[in-house]
Amino acid sequence: RVRTRVAPSPTGDPHVGTAYIALFNRAFARSQGGDFILRIEDTDQARSTPESEQAILKALRWLGLDWDEGPDVGGDAGPYRQSERSEIYRKYADELVDKGHAFHCFCTAERLDSMRREQRLNGQPPGYDGRCKGLSQEEVQSRLAQGEKSVVRMDVPREGACEVRDMLRDPIEIEWKQVDMQVLLKSDGLPSYHLANVVDDHLMGITHVIRGEEWISSTPKHILLYQYFGWEAPVFFHMPLLRNADKSKLSKRKNPTSIDYYYRLGILPEALVNYLGMMGWTMPDGEEKFTVQEMVDNFDISRVSLGGPVFDTEKLDWLNGRYLRESLSDEEFAQRLMDWSYNRDYIMQFLPLVRERVERLSDVAPLAAFFFAGMPDIEAADFEHKKLDADTILKILQLSLWKLETQRHWDKEHIMADVKAVGEHLGLKLKDVLFPMFVSVTGSPRSVSVLEAMAILGPDMVRARLRHAIE
Ligand code: ATP
Ligand code: GLU
Repeated sequence: RVRTRVAPSPTGDPHVGTAYIALFNRAFARSQGGDFILRIEDTDQARSTPESEQAILKALRWLGLDWDEGPDVGGDAGPYRQSERSEIYRKYADELVDKGHAFHCFCTAERLDSMRREQRLNGQPPGYDGRCKGLSQEEVQSRLAQGEKSVVRMDVPREGACEVRDMLRDPIEIEWKQVDMQVLLKSDGLPSYHLANVVDDHLMGITHVIRGEEWISSTPKHILLYQYFGWEAPVFFHMPLLRNADKSKLSKRKNPTSIDYYYRLGILPEALVNYLGMMGWTMPDGEEKFTVQEMVDNFDISRVSLGGPVFDTEKLDWLNGRYLRESLSDEEFAQRLMDWSYNRDYIMQFLPLVRERVERLSDVAPLAAFFFAGMPDIEAADFEHKKLDADTILKILQLSLWKLETQRHWDKEHIMADVKAVGEHLGLKLKDVLFPMFVSVTGSPRSVSVLEAMAILGPDMVRARLRHAIE
């Protein structure tokens, strides 16, 4: 029975790339009468958050990409959250050590640094040099007994090459000496991605691994782990990555990548999921507008295209427009509007900000329009200011954008701290730094508190408006 999975790491906003990969896994599984599983890969404790996990689940559900097994719906192969499976990984890491396929490594960060420096100087490929591989059993046992810090690394041959087979590509040869002796178990006893991923795919009965191209270079390690355990490896299929217009990997520095952004922009879920389908698939009759079910009914993985698909937001708008005009009755359209943002929940978010500044109910719509809009209609003249010249304004916007791109805590306090830091850097008062923010984010030099508005609008919408203003 075919079983596929999507395995997001809950380390940020729900990424359109995750939905794209989920869609193809689901379409393939469904077209084969198989199962589609959702697994949460939260072994990176420092970066994973429950909020991010919730947001990913919610976004995939919103897109209609539901799953047969997962952390919220259960299933026979659970738990489906890696942080709840630590014991399992430890057991399998021990097994590899016992079989001589993995070893304890006591090298300190300083030693690894100097090793890397030397490798760089000598033009050698970076990677662990195998020093701790030669330690005797007795030495390892005594150092472990003394509580010395260690990791478990996998052994990797230094000779020969690995052949990576991929469903739709010619076999790719990767020399073993290019493959690092990867850490499998970190010093805190938690697994690395590679160990957890292979163990789980095996225990969860995954038959086909459909994932982004970025993982091709990790595949030799995974193949080797399957061999070491004596397990049959799944079939691999690496999807081409979504690209920016300049063909680089889609990144939030150049394009909004959060599904929540497209929601806020008023893209319909069926249009977004259709568009993601178009990134790697065309219907046999060439029709560009199709439902997930139509994709499943016609799905043939050998027809998935491998060209680097450009995530073109104009094309997405065009498709969304077709759905709005062609697929909804007036009644349904009105319902969608209400579900989207014309509702009590959303109004309650910004109401405290606008009520201070109105005298009539009819003042609310003009003041709050930017909470419902995409990019504000602004021009250079809107940025004229008695103290700040155009160059300074541009600096404020650019520096704020850079700061906010790395902000992982999207709330008023953290946004304020970033904006303040920009002000300090440029030697400007907070009030002056906020001026171009007002224009870029709310479309007007005076509006409701811009910091709170930014918090409500969300990171991708704010960044997109700053970028729009800079351009
Ligand atoms: P960014 O550069 O925007 O920060 P990232 O690679 O850091 O992107 P992650 O948060 O690591 O993004 O990725 C989230 C998920 O989205 C991962 O499962 C990743 O495989 C997938 N993903 C990221 N970028 C792309 C892409 N260009 N195409 C397809 N999937 C992608
Ligand atoms: N957790 C990985 C990711 O975030 C999964 C990669 C894989 O599918 O093997 O993309």
